[in-house]
Amino acid sequence: MMDSIESAARQIRKDVLRMHQTGSNAGGAMSSADILAVLYFDTMNLESPDDPKRDRFVMSKGHCVSSLYSVLAQKGFIERDRLAEYCVDGKLLMGHPTRGGVPGIEASSGSLGHGLPMAVGMAWAAQKDKLGWRTFVLMGDGECQEGSVWEGAAVAARLALDNLIVIVDANNLQGYGRCEDILPINTLAAKFRSFGWSTMEVDGHDCAQISGALKAVPFEVSKPSAIIAKTVKGKGVREMEDSLGWHYFSVPKEKLQDFCDELE
Ligand SMILES: [Mg+2]
Repeated sequence: MMDSIESAARQIRKDVLRMHQTGSNAGGAMSSADILAVLYFDTMNLESPDDPKRDRFVMSKGHCVSSLYSVLAQKGFIERDRLAEYCVDGKLLMGHPTRGGVPGIEASSGSLGHGLPMAVGMAWAAQKDKLGWRTFVLMGDGECQEGSVWEGAAVAARLALDNLIVIVDANNLQGYGRCEDILPINTLAAKFRSFGWSTMEVDGHDCAQISGALKAVPFEVSKPSAIIAKTVKGKGVREMEDSLGWHYFSVPKEKLQDFCDELE
């Protein structure tokens, strides 16, 4: 089982490299690949994007949506050929998730700090109507500096939303540097706990660890769960790893094959 998840993650990284011959944010898309592979191929109850009982996923770090498009193609929700539409003018696979037109995109996101509050509303709706589906949210660590994240976190705890799960892709880089240099916010796990959440920390590139944590939610009854996944920006290609530049660079055509080979 883990083999097929790891192979899905490798496919995400290859697709991301090909898509990012234009556009920014390949590094953050690569850091989230293992988390997305586990969510979509192990954790979530999601066979069809139209099933009312499906688990919901909100990609709050919306600038890294290329990794999600790869997953949607691997699930068969969109045609694989459409990945070539990424960031092409007039096409629907935009540089941020946009609801409508792309099956499997649950929420428009990318204005950082808005995904969690939207997910709180979704989880609350499921709780009120006593529906069994869960809401998963992927956030960036830099994103956690946004005030609206903590308004959402406080409300989620107040409403006892134990059907809400946040995963933070904690790669310790954001657009302009190290998160701890730009705006340190203590440790993220301690911060979520102080807001009434249950937390677990995992290696965000160890699919078995991620899977184990996601199988254990909710960590406590009547509390929302936050998983802090320690990751490396650009994971999988040495030149890209833990490098701020890859928040912005596109993959040069002449390097694409070497980068893809390195993933094997
Ligand atoms: Mg980050």
